[in-house]
Amino acid sequence: MRVKFAARKSSPRYPNRVPGVFLFLFIGGLLCLFGFWSLSIGQKPKKPSFLEAEDRQLDHALHQKQDDFEIVVFYPQEPQEIVSTAKQQAEQLMTSLSTKKTEMPELPAAKQESPEPTLIKADYHTEILEQNTLSVVYLIQKKVGDQIEEDHWGYILDLQTGELITADQAFDQTGLDRISALFRDAMKNQEATHDLAYTLSFITASAPAAENFSSFYLEEDQLTFFVDIAAESLSEISSNEEKNLKTTSAMEKELRWSVDPNQLGSHFLLKPGVEEENLFIPPRTVDPQRPMVALTFDDGPHPKNTPRILETLKTYDGASTFFMVGTNVERYPDVVLQVAENGSEIASHTYNHPNLTRLSADSLNVQLNRVSELVNDLTHQQIQIQTLRPPYGAVNEQVKEASPTPLILWSLDTLDWKTRSAEKTVDLVLSQVEDGDIILMHDIHAESADAAETLIPKLTEMGFQLVTVQELMEAKGLEMLPGQKIFSANQDK
Ligand SMILES: [Zn+2]
Repeated sequence: MRVKFAARKSSPRYPNRVPGVFLFLFIGGLLCLFGFWSLSIGQKPKKPSFLEAEDRQLDHALHQKQDDFEIVVFYPQEPQEIVSTAKQQAEQLMTSLSTKKTEMPELPAAKQESPEPTLIKADYHTEILEQNTLSVVYLIQKKVGDQIEEDHWGYILDLQTGELITADQAFDQTGLDRISALFRDAMKNQEATHDLAYTLSFITASAPAAENFSSFYLEEDQLTFFVDIAAESLSEISSNEEKNLKTTSAMEKELRWSVDPNQLGSHFLLKPGVEEENLFIPPRTVDPQRPMVALTFDDGPHPKNTPRILETLKTYDGASTFFMVGTNVERYPDVVLQVAENGSEIASHTYNHPNLTRLSADSLNVQLNRVSELVNDLTHQQIQIQTLRPPYGAVNEQVKEASPTPLILWSLDTLDWKTRSAEKTVDLVLSQVEDGDIILMHDIHAESADAAETLIPKLTEMGFQLVTVQELMEAKGLEMLPGQKIFSANQDK
C-alpha cells in the first residue's frame, strides 16, 4: 500500500539563515548526543512537499534536510509558558530521530539502486489533564519508499510553570509502589529481560522512587514510561514483543514500558481512576531455577518495625511471611493490610501465643482458627490464611490433627530475641544461609528490623530471591498438608 503525506499548497515561510546549528543535548541523564541540524537549508524557500501537518505552520517546527533524509518536528506554540520547554523537547526528539534515521527495515533490492530519501514527520496532539497539566503526544511517521513506520512519544507539562511534570507530581507513593511492582513483574515475564530482572542493579533501578520513573507520557489508556536501564541485554528486545515492553526507538538502552493507568487507581493524580475497594496485591513472579529463602517474622505486627521491614522488602523486590499474633492483628489492622499490599504473606502465630500442646481441645481450636477469622473480616474475605507457626515450635499429635494449615517451623534460627544484636543476627544468617531455608526472626524487636535492613539487600546481592513460605514451597514443588511440620524447602535439612 502506498501512503502519502499531505502536501501543502502555499509556500512556507522559512527564515533565511546560515545553515548549521550545533546542539548539545543530554538525554535521559545517561546519553550525551551531538545533534546537527539546520533550521533552514540556506536555499530559496521551497515547498516541503510531504511533511506538512494539516493545520500547523511549518515555522512552528524544527526542520532538517539533507540529501538522503528530511525531518520535521512540530511543537506546541501556546500557551506562552510552555513554548520554551516544548521546543527543547522537540529538539531532543529531532536529535534522536536524526541519529536513528538510518535504522530502517531493509529495502527491496530494486529500491537500493536509486534510494528515496527517508522522510520523517513528528506531529503532536494535546490533552489537558488534572492539576493544570498538558499532555503532549507525538505521532512519528517515518517513510522510506513504500514503507511507513509509526511510533509514539510524548511528555506532560505544568501549564503554569511550563516545566516537565515529575513522577512525584504525577503519582503518590502508592502509585509509585504499583508502578515499580508491575514493571518488575513485566520484566521477569519477558525472556529478553528475565535474567536482568533478578540482578541487584536492575532491582535498585526499578525501586519505587520518583527518580526511577521520571520520564513518561499518557496516550489514551496507556501510560508509557522510559526507564533508564543501561544493560547490554536490552538491545535484544525486538520492537514487537509482548507485554508492552520494548526498547525505545529514541534511545537504544532505555526501556519503554506501558501500563494501563486504571491499574494505578486513584494514584495517578493527573487522570485519577476509581479506587477499587479490593486490596491491590502486587503481582510476584518467582523463578524456581534461582536460589531463594523465606525470611519469616514472628509475634507482630509491630507499628514501627513491621513497616520498616516492609519498606526494605519493597525496595529490593522481596516478600516475607509475617506470623502474626491475633491480639496484635486487632491492635494494628493497618499494618496487617500493609503486609498484603506489599505482596508479603499474612500468617498465623495463634491468637495470644500459648504453648499449643498444653491446651484443651476447645482452646486449641480457638488458637488455631481465630487469626484466620480476624484476617478474613479485615480483608473482606480477600485473604485466607494458609500457614501457621506454633509458638515455641511446640507441636504434638493433637495439634497436628486439629490444625487446618501446615505447621511452619524453621531451618535457620537467628536467636534474634536472645542476642538482641543486629550484627550477630546478620553474621549468623550470612554464614549459614542456603537455598530453601526458612529463617526465623521476630519483628517486635527493633534490632531485628535493623538486621533485616542489612540482610535484605545482602541476600539479594548474593542472588537469593526473598520469598514467602508459600512461594518457597510452591516454587520448589513441595506439597503442604494440614498438620504437616515443615522446616525448610531444602531436602537435605
Ligand atoms: Zn513467637
